[in-house]
Amino acid sequence: IIGIFAGMRNLAEQLSTKGHRVHYVAIDAQDNQQSLTGNLAWLIDHYKVQCFEYQEPDEYRLDQQLKDFTASLSLESAMVSSEHFYTAREDCTAIFKGQKQWLMERFYRLMRTKHQVLMQDAAQGSKQDVKQKPHQPLGGQWNFDQENRKSWPGSPAEPSDTRLRHNHQLLWESIQKAEVSSFGQPQAQDFRWPVNRQEALAHLEIFIRDILPEFGNFQDAMSTKGWRLFHSLISFALNTKMLNPQEVVLKAEQAFRNEAVSLATAEGFIRQILGWREYIRGIYWAQMPGYDESNVFEHHTPLPEWFWSGQTKMNCLSHAIGQSLEHAYAHHIQRLMIIGNFSLLAGLDPAALHRWYLGIYIDAFEWVELPNTVGMSQYADGGLPATKPYVSSAAYIDRMSDYCKGCHYNKKLREGEKACPFNALYWDFFERNKEKLGNNFRLGMVYRNLEKMDEAALSALKAQATITLAKLNAL
Ligand code: FAD
Ligand code: SF4
Repeated sequence: IIGIFAGMRNLAEQLSTKGHRVHYVAIDAQDNQQSLTGNLAWLIDHYKVQCFEYQEPDEYRLDQQLKDFTASLSLESAMVSSEHFYTAREDCTAIFKGQKQWLMERFYRLMRTKHQVLMQDAAQGSKQDVKQKPHQPLGGQWNFDQENRKSWPGSPAEPSDTRLRHNHQLLWESIQKAEVSSFGQPQAQDFRWPVNRQEALAHLEIFIRDILPEFGNFQDAMSTKGWRLFHSLISFALNTKMLNPQEVVLKAEQAFRNEAVSLATAEGFIRQILGWREYIRGIYWAQMPGYDESNVFEHHTPLPEWFWSGQTKMNCLSHAIGQSLEHAYAHHIQRLMIIGNFSLLAGLDPAALHRWYLGIYIDAFEWVELPNTVGMSQYADGGLPATKPYVSSAAYIDRMSDYCKGCHYNKKLREGEKACPFNALYWDFFERNKEKLGNNFRLGMVYRNLEKMDEAALSALKAQATITLAKLNAL
């Protein structure tokens, strides 16, 4: 909340300094009508506006609201592209027309070819037509994921965060006075995120120069000794349009061409932005409205209380949620394989979880948060971006982190008071969803193992899962 307000005010100031006429409606301004359309109507009237133009919104609700508003106007109006993405809203739908499974890898390869990113002979070929362009990826391989999955032994040292320190105490007080609801630690006097383009660019430069070389190695790693590891922390700057995705991708590609980072590292990072980010946005626009109601497993359990405090005996969740409350940040694997993983196994209500994710992260905007939560992490849409549910038992969490070492629960146990809750919930999840998931070819091994399990062992696991689910708040 502080980041967005500070960013808006900073932009208004910069535009005014450059000589633009800006009317910034502060939250506590006398003339603030306290609704978007109320303010627009007021401004149109006040300035005797003859033509109303606005940037393409990223969010469905706002898009509808502005469409309805312009339809009610008796003056000329137009929506213009924000020119912020590689793709148009409807591109993904066109690419995957008629296909049940929307494979990100296919989308990503098209993007790499179309925009000639990390391609052989990139200098040749027309920029306009995919068919005429060189089709071979640099290094002869599209994906180096296998090289990007190391756990972090504690060295090299985790870089410091953004190095920025803003004092936004006065702004925070005015936000509170306006009764904007919030949770977590405001850190208003020690605000560390970039709030303008200059700061965002400086932050990006530092990342590319000093941190990107280790990004690939430890992309999936998690640790109690660090909260950002080697992630870029650029999602807030990207989503608020202080940084453009094209410039980020170009800088990462340049770092590879200057031999500052390996191809695997540059590719792994670029895939997140040119691939995942654009693809996720395509899913959002293809599935809205109604995507937020997806609930294929019919999960309705409310979120446990510790989602708002981080106070659980499960060390992995305590760390992932604790740092989210403190820093408004958790990296992708913490969001997917700790918080999302537990939520899906425990059958938490995906709509409630969606609202939680939307409220907690600095980078949370519905167009990117919703498909990641409801689709990728909860498989609530029946498997559009996710080819299988992203869940695991304690073994994966132990492999990728040091969380299990200091945990109240025992990662190896499946039953008993000290058993790691993930273990019984994992098998129970697949057992209770056999009808919906049993035919998924990526889950063949899981279901073969379930079949091999003798009845007594399976009953014991199910009983343990029932006990666990009955005391969610006390875990
Ligand atoms: P890095 O790990 O350094 O990656 C670089 C950039 O790649 C990110 O800044 C981001 O722009 C992009 N990226 C990477 N993965 C994804 C992805 N799956 N979808 C879209 N972009 C991606 N990202 C958001 O920007 N906003 C959200 O609200 C959000 N909610 C999420 C919810 C869940 C359940 C999950 C599993 C993921 C979510 N993500 C979201 C994606 C991802 O976790 C964040 O983009 C990333 O953690 C941001 O940190 P970073 O800038 O350090 O990223
Ligand atoms: Fe998490 Fe289980 Fe490991 Fe504890 S033992 S940290 S609950 S995975």
